[in-house]
Amino acid sequence: MKETPKNDPLPDFTKLDWFRDPVLQVIWDFVERSGDEARIVGGAVRDTLLGRAVADIDFATPVRPETLLAQSGQSDVLVKPTGLDQGTVTLISQGKPFQVTTLRRDIETDGRHAKVDFGNDWTEDARRRDFTINALYLGRDGHLFDPLNGLEDLNSGTLKFIGDPRARIREDYLRILRFFRFHAELACEQFDEQGLRAVISEKAGLELLSRERVTWEIMKLFAATGAGRVVACMEDAKLMTVLLGGRTFLDRFESQLQLETDLVESGLGQKQDALLRLAHYAIDDEDDERRLCHKLRFSNAEQDRLEIFSEATDAIESPVSDSEIRKMLYRRGRQITLDDLSKRYVRAKLAGKEISHEILTSQFTLAETWAIPEFPVRGADLLAAGKTPGPGLGRILGQLEQIWIESDFKLDKVSLLTNYSVSD
Ligand code: ATP
Ligand code: MG
Repeated sequence: MKETPKNDPLPDFTKLDWFRDPVLQVIWDFVERSGDEARIVGGAVRDTLLGRAVADIDFATPVRPETLLAQSGQSDVLVKPTGLDQGTVTLISQGKPFQVTTLRRDIETDGRHAKVDFGNDWTEDARRRDFTINALYLGRDGHLFDPLNGLEDLNSGTLKFIGDPRARIREDYLRILRFFRFHAELACEQFDEQGLRAVISEKAGLELLSRERVTWEIMKLFAATGAGRVVACMEDAKLMTVLLGGRTFLDRFESQLQLETDLVESGLGQKQDALLRLAHYAIDDEDDERRLCHKLRFSNAEQDRLEIFSEATDAIESPVSDSEIRKMLYRRGRQITLDDLSKRYVRAKLAGKEISHEILTSQFTLAETWAIPEFPVRGADLLAAGKTPGPGLGRILGQLEQIWIESDFKLDKVSLLTNYSVSD
């Protein structure tokens, strides 16, 4: 949380662009239509105070979900019952979603789900949230409601559980992951000791969580600015074995973070690529990849990317030539090429064969910017050149394409058709 100078004066929230967004105001009107107040809570308030961009906006209100559902269709606001058990509906206007959760207190919890009772008490609602910095509320007039001293913790960079950490974790084990994730996202300097002890001692409860919830948190954690230190701490506390189910490679992960920093400093690279970071951390071979994909839940595209990452690569610790990079770009596409380069640099470095900064930047520039060419010869060109129609044409095209690739994509259509005899 370094970026917030201590005890900065509070911003005038009502003047901020995101606050003035007409869509937000439409949503606010909609929730308050029955006369009760709504306040923004959680990430939007916290991130504004940290000087960060606001991602999503969550509301709290005493208005009941059924009241909001009954209002559906009365204006262009769509109401979706996305978490009725928890008192949450999602309001959508002009394609923008806002979560609205009715003030509540938990009456029963089992580590994954909570039975909730709706209420009218803002402080009671605050007490069932996870961390003090997430229990900051913003009224429509820009007034900050801070019943649990979240602002003080935010200013001192402290991520503190509300109430007794162990008891709160036992209500919902996802809070273990949120503790580490926020730590990494907010780049806190130090762990709250009591909180850290509690998340470590309750780690067995992580097994109760669904793959989807764990994956969502892990991906956010791995994408975070402060992921390096937090992942190392989680590994040290043996949490990663519970979460990922297998061996890990902390040195590769750290080396990937360093590579990203080097690339970004040179104006290259996609910083904070969670999947690639995770691949370095948890995958060496196909077995690791299968285990990871079994433990977490990825899209098909993500699984494909991890599978290719897990394939053995020839001479992985040696640099490739520029022409090999071009070949890879043509054959396998940009993403796979960049992943392959990253794997090579990380492995080379750890094997003590560090590749120079000049080569690194020139090869990543090539992989990021080279315009992948299109094979210039078509079946129609072969017919025009007198070849016999039929299945043989495909074979000839394949042979010519191979010759073209081997020429480092230099030969043009005319020279390919005139100078290279290929068999029918
Ligand atoms: P971000 O949206 O950046 O992930 P956030 O703090 O807004 O951060 P959300 O998951 O959107 O997180 O939740 C909104 C608010 O709901 C949180 O700020 C917190 O007050 C409360 N909350 C969310 N998940 C939990 C949980 N597992 N236990 C207790 N409170 C929670
Ligand atoms: Mg949020």
